[in-house]
Amino acid sequence: MLTLKNYISGNFLEPQNNEYLDSYNPSDGSILYKLPQSNKKDVDDAVTAAKVSFLDWSKLPGIDRAQFLYLISDKIQENFSEFAEAESMDQGKPLWLTKKVDIPRAIKNFRFFAEQLSGQSTESFNDEPGFVNIVKRDPVGVCALITPWNLPLYLLTWKIAPALSLGNTVVCKTSEITSLTAYKLSEIMNKIKLPNGVCNFVYGSGDRSGSYLTEHSDVAAISFTGGTKTGEKIYTSATKGFKKVGLELGGKNSNIVFSSCDLEKTVKTSIHAAFINQGEVCLSGSKILVEESIYSLFVEKFIEKAKSLKVGNPSDKDTFIGAIASIGHLNKILSYIEIAKEEKATILLGGNRTSIPGYEEGYYILPTVITDLKPDSRILTEEIFGPVVSISPVKSEEEAIEIANNTPYGLSATVFSSNVNQIHRVTSKLEVGQIWVNCWLQRDLRTPFGGKKSSGIGREGGVYSRELFTELKNICIHYS
Ligand code: NAD
Repeated sequence: MLTLKNYISGNFLEPQNNEYLDSYNPSDGSILYKLPQSNKKDVDDAVTAAKVSFLDWSKLPGIDRAQFLYLISDKIQENFSEFAEAESMDQGKPLWLTKKVDIPRAIKNFRFFAEQLSGQSTESFNDEPGFVNIVKRDPVGVCALITPWNLPLYLLTWKIAPALSLGNTVVCKTSEITSLTAYKLSEIMNKIKLPNGVCNFVYGSGDRSGSYLTEHSDVAAISFTGGTKTGEKIYTSATKGFKKVGLELGGKNSNIVFSSCDLEKTVKTSIHAAFINQGEVCLSGSKILVEESIYSLFVEKFIEKAKSLKVGNPSDKDTFIGAIASIGHLNKILSYIEIAKEEKATILLGGNRTSIPGYEEGYYILPTVITDLKPDSRILTEEIFGPVVSISPVKSEEEAIEIANNTPYGLSATVFSSNVNQIHRVTSKLEVGQIWVNCWLQRDLRTPFGGKKSSGIGREGGVYSRELFTELKNICIHYS
């Protein structure tokens, strides 16, 4: 059985209390590996290592730091299949998906930020003769990077790459449910001889290892992606010592379909937005609102396509919906389906756990479609984060906007329409951080990514990642 080790100052170390957690293979319910349940001392050592290495790393020319990022990226590419298989086994998502999305994106994240952020220009202001102001951006110091289980390597590298590129050093704390590809990444850091202490990994549960890390007085910034409740706790602990904080949190995203849309394309994209990655995507279009005149036709076509999605073992080529990441999360999704039943909604499709021959202990759920929901239904306002989607008719643009905004979340929305005036009217009123029109999850990594309301604080991506990972310093010089 594989047992992960923390990676601190270039050394693979056992946790000092010798405590471990089990991590499960969701496709069959077996134990896949053990990971350290790191204690305060492990976290202290990792933060100290990062603090010491910051002195040299932050002084390296950006282009030299970028070379390390390129090397990391190349090594992931060299070990592509190993990473793709590990991610699929650990998370439960189809292997074809880790090959198509997760691992290519991790490779790209390092290259992208090496190019985007390694050389910085500075602004200067000179209003009064004899005075010049130079605005410098300094790295902030030790950054805590905390990530969830739905896109393990993809989201971790999305934080490591800009943080290191800008001259910070980091301590990573991945989800206790999915730490395998992070461990493989630490092996790469070691192989390419990234200077000791620049990137450290401590594993363990959020309430212990995670909270020790966010409370540490030598951590200058926290970049967190995960649930809104955890985000609130982290935000509170960050106020002690006035740490910088970036929070990418949950979402309840509307997928609004107007009658002028291209129906075939809209149904295809909506299926993808609802069920890819088992619906375990913060941006998933789980709340579909359809203009009344095409509601019945949309539902008919959507159900026909959803029925054809294969739920199966993640390694099967034709599996579209793999296993749910953990037994705890599977039960949470099923509890929402029960809520829908109690609310007297209609379960048009699915609604159950299912068993895959040969993998009976695996965590599988059928694609589930719910209709006939009341406007105040919890299914319409809370994040389910699984292969469960609701479809509701709307009479007007105004009603669509009202239902879409009626949630504490404000992460994203999707609009399908061919009416340009309508597109502008609707997008201007949606209270979210990003909107896709006639497409979904099309990403240009230079654009700002983040949420409003309970979906988070700050933006990641391109030059916007500088806001968290650097601190501005103005130097006013009087010359004669
Ligand atoms: P989670 O909040 O339970 O855990 C996320 C991470 O935080 C894990 O590493 C966990 O160990 C750690 N953690 C938990 N409690 C902590 C604490 N008290 N102090 C410090 N760290 C702690 O979230 P999850 O279940 O892993 O992920 C699912 C959630 O993530 C969903 O709500 C989803 O929408 C969200 N998410 C958001 C985005 C985005 O970009 N907005 C992207 C992916 C996932």
